Amino acid sequence: MELTQENIDAIAHAPVPATRIIIDGQRCDAASGRVREVVSPLDRSILAHIPDCDEQDVDRAVRAARQAFERRSWQGMPPKQRKRILLRWAELIEAERLRLAVLQTRDQGQPVEHAWALDLGFAIDAYRWYAETADKLYDESVVLEDGLSAIIARMPLGVVAAILPWNAPAMIGAWKLGPALVTGNSVIIKPSEEASLVCLRIAELAQEAGMPPGVVQVVTGDGSVGAALAHHPDVDCVAFTGSGTTGRAILKAAASSNLKRVSLELGGKSANIVMADTQSIADAAAASVAFMFSNQGQVCEAPSRMLVQRAVFDELLDAVKARTAALKIGNPLDIATQLGPIVNEKQRNMICSHIAKAEADGATLEMDGRKAAVPEEGYYLGPTVATDVAEHSALAREEVFGPVLSLFKFDTIDEAVSMANNSCYGLGASIWSSDIDTVMYAARRIVAGNINVNGGTGPVVELPYGGFRESGFGRDRSFHAIEKYADLKNIIIRTRR
Ligand code: NAD
Repeated sequence: MELTQENIDAIAHAPVPATRIIIDGQRCDAASGRVREVVSPLDRSILAHIPDCDEQDVDRAVRAARQAFERRSWQGMPPKQRKRILLRWAELIEAERLRLAVLQTRDQGQPVEHAWALDLGFAIDAYRWYAETADKLYDESVVLEDGLSAIIARMPLGVVAAILPWNAPAMIGAWKLGPALVTGNSVIIKPSEEASLVCLRIAELAQEAGMPPGVVQVVTGDGSVGAALAHHPDVDCVAFTGSGTTGRAILKAAASSNLKRVSLELGGKSANIVMADTQSIADAAAASVAFMFSNQGQVCEAPSRMLVQRAVFDELLDAVKARTAALKIGNPLDIATQLGPIVNEKQRNMICSHIAKAEADGATLEMDGRKAAVPEEGYYLGPTVATDVAEHSALAREEVFGPVLSLFKFDTIDEAVSMANNSCYGLGASIWSSDIDTVMYAARRIVAGNINVNGGTGPVVELPYGGFRESGFGRDRSFHAIEKYADLKNIIIRTRR
């Protein structure tokens, strides 16, 4: 099904396809029988009910994952066959791409075009990419001396818990499941309580693709389910994307349980440096506004601090305001919509309180999202553009995770680099300049894991992704991610000389 308004309208009110968890290859309910409501941010209607799991369900899933691992039903399968199953899975997801995108939009509120292109598009690509590595990963062999050699073997860890946020669950899930599965692990998905529906269906499709029971499972519920996985003595690894607060809780849980491996992809406060010599102020403004407000600014790498060289500040501010004012806000199931509702009421209130605090701290609100004309029935909020933001204020330092952009002035590149690095985060940054010397000088000095120059690119699977400082550690995507889900084992062999 192509991405057309007609096709979207045809499925916009379709019943939700998957509302049960998957344990040991079976669709089932929470052991307690409890369910939780899924409320759509578009109109506050109840979209579905999903299992409200607890420790019993986590325990059942971990046991099934361990048994699958020990049966070697997946890790012992010939790599070519594992590749076929992973490719088949990607094909099944692709066949439902529009249905899944519409589901994610109804569940979380991101514009359907964004859900289609980014969340589902990059997820499918990542599953294919990792599937292709299945029969291309070799162990190493070393000759130590005549009659003495060794194999350095890459071994799966065992049971991996993938704990996901709500803003791009299909894509971020694929970044963890792809490399964890290709190395032979069993994976338990714990989606966010704010966006579980897409993950439930994708996990169902894994079973349909021929994944052995217990290899891809999913348990739903709130943070207590994630905490039960993080504390579980038989989980070998937690791969997490989400907030710093939760990341810290997971690290503590790992330390106080079985020292499981942990990787953390956390928040950001990305700087976006615009030099006066950039080729086109209009292009820099257009791309920055599009990136900043995609998914209503609920993107970990959103370039929320725009640092602009003084000579072009006014011109850039005008261009940013014009571009922002032109954004189409409204029903995210409309293919032309660029700004849908915020994920829930709590998040919307939190963003508004950041704006109010900035105003009280003396910021100028060039555009105030709270005053924008938006649909009344959901959790909508317009885009905010602020200037005169004090560098020490909360708006300049804390992750808002919403449609709020601040602009700052600087004079020299050293000043810009120092402002960019004045953050506890280190996830992403952008630079706009036509001078390669300036670009390389700044790119090497900015503490961040991903630096886009003159627009850069989207979240491609070929490149490792993750942060420095409090943005976490460990990398998703690329061959580098594979190492997170494996350990090395030496097998040292003496033979006749
Ligand atoms: P969150 O930390 O509130 O929740 C993430 C997941 O953790 C959810 O599944 C939640 O149920 C679970 N969880 C909550 N408490 C837990 C606990 N004590 N132990 C284990 N699991 C627990 O984050 P969120 O609100 O879903 O997502 C927003 C955050 O994620 C933002 O900070 C954003 O920057 C970050 N994020 C980072 C990236 C990245 O790649 N770096 C990508 C997307 C989002």
